[in-house]
Amino acid sequence: ASSNGRNGAAKSLGVRRGVRGNFVPPVRFNGGSTSGAAAAPRQQHGGENGVEDSTKKCLELLVGPDGELPERLRNLEPKLIEHVSNEIMEQDPNVRWDDIAGLEHAKKCVTEMVIWPLLRPDIFQGCRAPGKGLLLFGPPGTGKTMIGKAIAGEARATFFSISASSLTSKWIGEGEKLVRALFGVASCRQPAVIFIDEVDSLLSQRKAEGEHESSRRLKTQFLIEMEGCGSGTEQILLIATNRPQELDEAARRRLSKRLYIPLPSAAARAWIVRSLLNKDGLMTLSDDEVETICTRTDGYSGSDMKNLVKEASMGPLREALTQGKDISKISNDEMRSISLQDFMSALQQVRASVSQHELGLYEDWNKQFGSLA
Ligand code: ADP
Repeated sequence: ASSNGRNGAAKSLGVRRGVRGNFVPPVRFNGGSTSGAAAAPRQQHGGENGVEDSTKKCLELLVGPDGELPERLRNLEPKLIEHVSNEIMEQDPNVRWDDIAGLEHAKKCVTEMVIWPLLRPDIFQGCRAPGKGLLLFGPPGTGKTMIGKAIAGEARATFFSISASSLTSKWIGEGEKLVRALFGVASCRQPAVIFIDEVDSLLSQRKAEGEHESSRRLKTQFLIEMEGCGSGTEQILLIATNRPQELDEAARRRLSKRLYIPLPSAAARAWIVRSLLNKDGLMTLSDDEVETICTRTDGYSGSDMKNLVKEASMGPLREALTQGKDISKISNDEMRSISLQDFMSALQQVRASVSQHELGLYEDWNKQFGSLA
């Protein structure tokens, strides 16, 4: 609920609230410089500067104390700034460390490298200055996105999340400008965490030759923005990939810390099962039964476990319906509780999504390039 409240405040009010929740007095929006973004061509339903009202609201939240848009946002199309503010920015994604099973090594590193510097930028200067970017790599569905969201939540930072593949596919030709808008808006909303998923599609070495001019520019722009991150700013760049092998050397060098986010251990899998069932008041399994599930799910990712619980939870409902219960009237009380047998059947439907071969590749890359415990 708190996240909705904060999001609402961030997105719709004409009154500014600092990212740490401290009040910032309302500012006058004078449309920015005449050569800049705010002087975009007049649109049909535009406001006084030809900028639509919704866009204007976003711009208002970004103007500085002088009533002007920050320099680096002035030459960008207002629509891109609006897209970043509305679609990519989240005030508090509502995930905390306690929601993430296992991954103790990653949590410890991230706390030291990212959360403390965001909370105490005054201490983390000079030798203690945080790195420019942090790479989270590992199989899909292991909690990399959750870690990004938790950082934003724990450090009370604004969270920006975008998939790099959308920059190359959905924003063809405009990706470079969107990247500038993303880092530009983030610099106005510090402390900020910028989470870029599927970064391999952007920084892949395979594209190095024969790539399109626009994707080369996008990559260059991204590397430039990466350089600017972290230096004297409360802005952290977090990058995730399921294909670390594809990162080129320049990108790897810039990401000095590279954390392996592995598949969950048996204990972490048990935790996920318990926590998902508890959340819905459906936990009736004994400890032995949970242990049986864990021994049968070696190699499952966190997201596989979530799918398994989902599938198992359908068991009692399906059974009640075959007994003639009416789907439009059935209540929770009319269904039996979820049993070990439901999980055994679900195991036939939901298989591990990561192969042993893939796991080996991650482990090899971790040995060669990872920041080990
Ligand atoms: P990715 O590593 O691909 O970014 P996500 O963080 O998006 O994976 O995880 C997908 C879903 O799987 C999460 O929303 C969560 O429900 C579940 N999950 C994955 N890893 C964990 C974990 N370590 N603890 C709890 N849930 C997890």
